[in-house]
Order: sequence, then C-alpha cells, then structure tokens
Amino acid sequence: MKKVLWFRRDLRVHDSMLLAQDGEVLPIFIFDTKILRGLDTKDRRVSFIFEQVLKLKADLKALGLDLALFYGTPFDVFTYLKTLGFEDVYSSVDYDDYAKERDGEIAEMLRFHFLNDCYLFEPNEVLKKDGTPYLVFTPYYHACQALYTQFYALKYARGNQSLAQFNYKELLSIQGHAQTPLHVKIESIGFEPLHVNIIEPQKALEIFTCKIDSYEQMRDFLDVDATSHLSVHLRFGTISIREVVRYLVALKQQGHTTEPFFRQLIFREFYAYLLYHFPRLAWENYKYTPPISNDAEAYERFILAQTGYPLVDAAITELLETGLMHNRARMVVGSFFTKHLMLPWQKGEAFFAKYLLDYDASANVLSWQWCAGTGIDPQPYFRIFNPYAQSLKFDKEACYIKRFLPILNDIPSACLHKEAYLTSHEIAGYPKPIIGHESARKRFLNTFS
Ligand SMILES: Cc1cc2nc3c(=O)[nH]c(=O)nc-3n(C[C@H](O)[C@H](O)[C@H](O)COP(=O)(O)OP(=O)(O)OC[C@H]3O[C@@H](n4cnc5c(N)ncnc54)[C@H](O)[C@@H]3O)c2cc1C
Repeated sequence: MKKVLWFRRDLRVHDSMLLAQDGEVLPIFIFDTKILRGLDTKDRRVSFIFEQVLKLKADLKALGLDLALFYGTPFDVFTYLKTLGFEDVYSSVDYDDYAKERDGEIAEMLRFHFLNDCYLFEPNEVLKKDGTPYLVFTPYYHACQALYTQFYALKYARGNQSLAQFNYKELLSIQGHAQTPLHVKIESIGFEPLHVNIIEPQKALEIFTCKIDSYEQMRDFLDVDATSHLSVHLRFGTISIREVVRYLVALKQQGHTTEPFFRQLIFREFYAYLLYHFPRLAWENYKYTPPISNDAEAYERFILAQTGYPLVDAAITELLETGLMHNRARMVVGSFFTKHLMLPWQKGEAFFAKYLLDYDASANVLSWQWCAGTGIDPQPYFRIFNPYAQSLKFDKEACYIKRFLPILNDIPSACLHKEAYLTSHEIAGYPKPIIGHESARKRFLNTFS
C-alpha cells in the first residue's frame, strides 16, 4: 500500500506524525494555485514557505527520503497521483473553510487519514458534560489542564519507510491532465524571492528561556522583546507543538514560571476549536451585530498608517514592513478599527490576512471578533481601548512608535500620548487624528445602544 504523506502545516522532520507512518511513502508538498492566485507576487509568506520546503526536502534527503514538489490544485495533483496507484493520503488537520472543502474533495478520491499534528487536543476531546463545546475560555482551559497527560506531548519517532519511485528532481506543474516540469525556484511559481527575517525555532526557544519568568509581566510592553516569536513556526509546523510543551515541562521542573505562556498556547487551541465547531464564525458575528460605517476614506487612512493616532499608525507600519505586529498593538488596532472607525471586523481581518506572516484563520478571525466584541467569549462591546492611554502605559518613551514612525522622532515622547497636542500642532508629513477619542467612543456607544 503506497502512502502519500502530504506536508502542509507541518514542515519539519522532527517529531512528525506524518513521518511516523510505516511503509512505502511519497512525501509531497503542493504549491496550491488556488491559494497562490490571490497573493501579491511579493508575498513574504511564499518566500518563507518556499525556503522551509527546500529545507524540508534537504532534511528528508538526509533521512534517505525526498520530497516531491507540485504546482497546481490539490484536486489535479491527486487525480494524477491516483493514476500512479496511490490510494491513501496522510495529512494533518486544517480547520479553515477552504481547507475543509479542499480536503473533503480529496477524501472523495483517496482514503484520507487526518492526523492531529498541529494541536495538542482534538476538537471533540474537550467538551462540556452535556457533550457541547465550551464557549468560554477559562473553563475550556481548566478542562484542557485536567485532560493533559504526558501522552499529549510524546515525541513521534520515525516509522519504517521506503521511498516510493518518483521524479523528485523537478517541480511538477499539473494543470488538468497537462504536466510540465519546472525548475525548483520560487520564480517558477510566479513569486519574487524576498528575505524573511524569522529566527530559527530552536534558537527562539533558547532565547525565550531567559524571558519566560517575566513573560506575564512584560509581554504587553511594546518596546520590550518579551515574547517567544514562535507564532510563524507554530503556523507552518516548523516546530512541533508537542516539542514546545516538552520544553515547558522541562522548564517547569527547573522551577520556572511556565503557566502564563502555556495559557497562550491553549488560546491558540481554543480558537482553532471554536472555528472547528462554529465554522460560520469565519464571517458571521456570534454575539452582537455592531454598528458599521463603510467610510472608505477612514479605511484608506487606516491601511496607509495615516490615522494620526501614533500607536495605531506605528503598528500598521510594523505590519507592512515586517509582516508581524506586537500582540498588544494588534489588540489596540483591532479595537480602533471596529470601534473608533466603526469599520466591519471582516475588513480588518482580511487586511491582516494579507500581510501577517503568522496568519492563521482561526487565531485571526477569533481575535478580530474578540476585538469587535462580536465573537464567542469576546471583549465586552463597551470596552474601548484608548490608544493614547495604551501607548502611555505600554510605550511610555514612545520607542516603539518612533521606531516605526521615524517622522515623529523630534516630537517629545510625552506629547505622542496626548490628543490635545496632536490636534493642536502641525507635524510636517503627519496627519492630525482622524477622529477625537472621546467623540469616537460616544459615537460607537450611542450607535450601539
Ligand atoms: C487582532 C488580532 C489578530 C491576530 N492574528 C493572529 C494570527 O493570524 N496568527 C497568530 O498566530 N496569532 C494571531 N494573533 C495572536 C497574537 O497576536 C500572536 O500569536 C502573537 O503576537 C505572536 O507572537 P509570539 O509568537 O511572540 O507570541 P507569544 O506571546 O510568545 O505567544 C506564544 C504563542 O501562543 C499563541 N498565541 C498567543 N496569543 C494568541 C492569541 N491571542 N490567539 C491565538 N494564539 C495565540 C501563538 O501561537 C504564539 O506564538 C492575533 C491577535 C489579535 C489581537
């Protein structure tokens, strides 16, 4: 029985459920044209993935295996593989809408074996006594803690494998029944190679060891590097979630404070769990229908980092320049977009989806719904972050603001947290605030009520 091992969100050889399979195997990666078609040719994620796929190929070769590369739709690729006698495909779960539809289609063609390799818990494992899903994080978290045993973080050993015959040398483009071999380079799939500065996962863990005890106190400070930088690796599986947990267990045994960080990992699980159980959350409000303005100019100013709110504009600049954004900044920006500007969270979500290197449908959608106050277990709708108070608290010296908005370098830091200063002074090249904080707050609450 020949098995296709389909790598997608698990681009590694260590601790891999895919590589734990025995038998004759064909490891593959598909550059999916349905996904790539919608992206800019300068998309950083494609460069990152391409690089990781080449690394995976080299690592597999070192194990006596290889990686077949395809460019096309999964449907066309599996139609072709079926003609070569492949009947079984193994792959890790993926819960977003497109992924479910894609996998459903392939499952009608071949026997599809889903592996829970991206998360610790399976969505149907953590349920309330009445068998329904949890709707509030804290009880979900406690249920996960109660359920957790060492078993969940076991390392998967390599299976007993032989490599299926295939031409592994090229990148095979498959369009319908036509097959065209391409050179293995990013330009072959229509993208420009870009440098993406993401620290290696093992190095990230090593560095994080020195920060873990202060993680809870420091993680919100915008100019302090207090977090793990693991989100991109967890997104693409360049590190195993079980490895991260084993690392935490080891640190805990040495007396380190690991709980606050573990809690964030469970947040990641919770959001994937909610999207699995409530797929309509991807586009639909769960709680309230918030007031919405379709102010195109406000949207334009937001995405161009021209709102006149220094923290918001610095955060958007961080996103555009690096593909990442500090978590506290994401929270403030999400609140500002949905409450100050009263724009629909779906548009903000789509904007983040376009640029975030760690973009993950469940984390992004549910976080945006949290900010908007519309999701399951969201921030209360009446809680509206004051961006000035937030920057004063978490970026007092305005280092984060000035790093991403050097145009403000000459303005005294304290002034950047003061609306009165920003509205009454002309700053060359920088706009006045798009709306007053207090009037925006009142407008939202009045419209909402
Ligand atoms: C509006 C908004 C959109 C977001 N979109 C995404 C997204 O598309 N992809 C994404 O991975 N995270 C998203 N987050 C969560 C969070 O901002 C990032 O996970 C975090 O900033 C990544 O940095 P880190 O790895 O250093 O995080 P750390 O603080 O070191 O956290 C460790 C890990 O926990 C997970 N995590 C932390 N916070 C959250 C959270 N709120 N929800 C889910 N998982 C979390 C991530 O996998 C992260 O790598 C979003 C948050 C907001 C408010």
